[in-house]
Amino acid sequence: MKKECEYCGKTFEAKTNRIYCDNLCQEEGWRIKKKIKNIQNYKKIKGRKKTERYKTQRRKWAKKTGYMKKYMKQWRQKNHQHWIEWNRNNYHKNRQKELERMKKYRQTESYKLSARKKKARRKRQLAFIPLWLNPFPKEIPIQYHHITNMFVIPLPKKNT
Ligand SMILES: [Zn+2]
Repeated sequence: MKKECEYCGKTFEAKTNRIYCDNLCQEEGWRIKKKIKNIQNYKKIKGRKKTERYKTQRRKWAKKTGYMKKYMKQWRQKNHQHWIEWNRNNYHKNRQKELERMKKYRQTESYKLSARKKKARRKRQLAFIPLWLNPFPKEIPIQYHHITNMFVIPLPKKNT
């Protein structure tokens, strides 16, 4: 029985029901078929409506793998200039609203947690380099005060 090869189009003598003339053609043909199938599958997934369940699962996955953090960082870097400009133009318009929003936000648990984290992070990164030695007499208790993240200066301790 004579057949046409599906890959190269040559006619060949077929003893079984294969559709390619030789092994090389078969490999190439299979590769292309796989590619087409993948594209079709991708289109199917892309065209599907995103359900609530899908969204929540995806969000969970993003949090778990750290993808969200990465993505947010990139997004922030991309839109940094835009946000600066937006704030400059709209700050006075939305000042009152923003202050009220921040007031509310400061009372929530999530703000308290993030504030604690921020403080701890800053403390970890602080260096301790005194700019000068203690000029006060020994009787006065002193306290080192950070003027930048690197340098400290001795100051008399406040009585609170
Ligand atoms: Zn062939």
